[in-house]
Parts: sequence; structure tokens; C-alpha cells
Amino acid sequence: MQKQCICGETMAVHLRTVIYQKKIEIDHVPVYTCPGCSASEVYPDVKNDLTDLISAYDAYPGRLRLNFEETSELAYLIKKAADREYWNEPVQQIIDGRINELLDMLLLAQSLEDNHWAEQVRKKLGQIASYSQTVNFT
Ligand SMILES: [Zn+2]
Repeated sequence: MQKQCICGETMAVHLRTVIYQKKIEIDHVPVYTCPGCSASEVYPDVKNDLTDLISAYDAYPGRLRLNFEETSELAYLIKKAADREYWNEPVQQIIDGRINELLDMLLLAQSLEDNHWAEQVRKKLGQIASYSQTVNFT
């Protein structure tokens, strides 16, 4: 999860707080940052999730603080992989563990006939499936 900045330095992904129009604060957004020129850019794979989240709360009156990892599985997984408690665990194992957790949630949501919840869990599973094809965590 690295790329080269236009200045020549290597950019790495960090979880940052993004503030939208001084109104919506979103914690734990994966952002490429450059140690050389301090350029930054939102990680491309989460851009859609981020704009969806912002548009969902755009009309909210007043200030708001959101946690991106509740919307974005990639943010959740990066945060977990960076957590000291899981440092010794291979990333694939963290991902597999999360998938099992979500599948359990899906079963529970379905048995409670909570369609909204089931839909949310399906969306998260879909996110992981699309990330695991594009993201190399190492
Ligand atoms: Zn740079």
C-alpha cells in the first residue's frame, strides 16, 4: 500500500481525520501521505465510500463526528492490522477473522429478519471482496 509521490518520495497509507466543510469530522480515513512534501490524497478504493458517507450526512444541522471504520471495512482492517495487539497476526488471518465475524452477523440478522442490518453486513462483505483483489497489505 505505497505509491510514489510527484516529488519522488514514497507515500504510505495512514489513518487520518478528514474534515468536510468544517462541519463533518470523519476519523480513521485511509489517506496517502508524503513525508517529503506533505502532500496527501484519500486512498482511491475508499473514495466512493467516503463521498457516500458525506452525502448521507450533508443535510445534518450542526457539527458531526463520524468513524469511518464503521462504514469502510478497509479502514477497519487497516486500523486492526496497525493495532499492537494484532501485530503478530498475518493480515490474511485478520481478514479471514473479520469475514467469519461478518458471516456470523449476517446469520443473526437473517434469523432476526432484520433486512436493513443484513444489507449492511452484505455491503461490508462486498467491500472486503473487492479490496482483497486490489489491495496488497504488505
Ligand atoms: Zn511528495
